[in-house]
Amino acid sequence: MSGRALRWLLSLAHRAAVQEPGGARGRLTIIRHHRVYAAGARPLYRLGVGEPVLAAQLALLGELGLTPVTVAEGWRRLREGEPGSWVALTFDDGYLDNVERALPLLEASGGRATFYLTAGLIERRLAPWWDSLAHALEHTRRDLLEWTVGEMQLALPLRTRSERVSALARLVPELRVHPVERERRLAEIAGRLEVGEAPCELAPWESAAALVRSGMEVGAHTLDHPFLSLLSPAEQRREVAGSVELIERRLGVRPTGLAYPGGDHDARTLEIVEASGLDYAVTTRAGINRPDDRPFELRRRGLSEGACLGPSGRFSRRLAIAELDGAFDRMRGVEVGT
Ligand SMILES: [Zn+2]
Repeated sequence: MSGRALRWLLSLAHRAAVQEPGGARGRLTIIRHHRVYAAGARPLYRLGVGEPVLAAQLALLGELGLTPVTVAEGWRRLREGEPGSWVALTFDDGYLDNVERALPLLEASGGRATFYLTAGLIERRLAPWWDSLAHALEHTRRDLLEWTVGEMQLALPLRTRSERVSALARLVPELRVHPVERERRLAEIAGRLEVGEAPCELAPWESAAALVRSGMEVGAHTLDHPFLSLLSPAEQRREVAGSVELIERRLGVRPTGLAYPGGDHDARTLEIVEASGLDYAVTTRAGINRPDDRPFELRRRGLSEGACLGPSGRFSRRLAIAELDGAFDRMRGVEVGT
């Protein structure tokens, strides 16, 4: 049985808990999104939800009396001991499609969200590494990639779209390395595939400013989106503090929260983030948050498109609610993301 069919069956027996007030202590569910695609878009690397699915999620949350808040607001309510159950919505990386598609839906629904901006890439108009890789694989005229990485010699066929999707999945783990080495590897791949630089699809500052004007929260997501635990303490400090300062300089508001790129962090990262004056940080670990949880390791739950679509391919309220409750967390193991 497929994972989707199994989840569908399990959801039939699931008793919704997301609305329960959680006793006197309160509970905060944080949803993790990235991109918001136009209906029908078919990118090689799909990292996010389509606009219709996001609209359906917001409508469902509204009906449940859980119109989303920002993480800063939800965390404040938890810490101040307000009893209740809240959902906060987050978007990582700072894509322009967030401003163009998510913001109007949020404004129409009365909801709020937190947008974690990759400040250095936005400033220099550079594509994140996974977009560069996807761009090279999508636009190359070569039908084979031969590439040696470490001891491994790869020969990845690129004749069809599905072969290119498989190649992408095979290559992504090879780029989870220190940024200097990652850039070297990316340049090698792009050179072999004879493809130029990928366009930057992150929001320019003047577009990101619309988020602030609309009452959304902007948070930090480092300067260049490295895996923080691979960096020296000095490099980590520069990535964290540098992104907070750059956002404040460009948008006039100082972020109080941060999302770890790829969820990656270690004990030193926690010390650095805390010392930087931030109030909280979010991970990619699934789970709900309680008032006495550690502020720099808040949990978030993915609510992906596939997770919300039933066997018919239509949005399923029942599945979405079961996902919000984390009914399938154990089936998936530890969640990772960018
Ligand atoms: Zn990210």
